[in-house]
Amino acid sequence: MRLLPGRGPAAARLARRRQLGLTLVATVHPLRSDHFGQSAPSDGTVGPVRCQYCHASAQLVSGETLYPDQPAKHQAQFWHCASCRAWVGCHDGTDRPLGTLADSRLRNARIAAHAAFDPLWRGGGLNRTQAYLWLAKEMQLSEAECHIGHFSIEQCAAVLDAVERRRQQELLGLI
Ligand SMILES: [Zn+2]
Repeated sequence: MRLLPGRGPAAARLARRRQLGLTLVATVHPLRSDHFGQSAPSDGTVGPVRCQYCHASAQLVSGETLYPDQPAKHQAQFWHCASCRAWVGCHDGTDRPLGTLADSRLRNARIAAHAAFDPLWRGGGLNRTQAYLWLAKEMQLSEAECHIGHFSIEQCAAVLDAVERRRQQELLGLI
């Protein structure tokens, strides 16, 4: 049997990585614990938020600055590094960052990871807690570490792979 190029799970995995721009770069930024100075002071305020690319202090800006054409985001707050064009949103009504600052490639990768993963618990067979427990196991992370907002591009690609494997297992009636 001759293996056809461009078919099968490996090819699909490659295609997903290509979508995320992974083949275009030699290195990806690894997940680092010091991305944004997570040493939150005990008074509940956010400590210094740093850009994971240049390590400069990020600035708190409104959504209007970053998304002038999207009024729905104008009230939201974002930690922003102007020189790297990287930012991250905040938990609703707070200035606590949802994760690490992301440039456009990483933002797109995280959006793709959420688009693949969220349907598992939004109307899928799992509730949200079950879905994140499953993802943490797949990603070999603790529950506390398992936030797509903290993931690297490579980890986002792994989310797509894991969801795809799960879909295949569902189709085969294995779960
Ligand atoms: Zn920066």
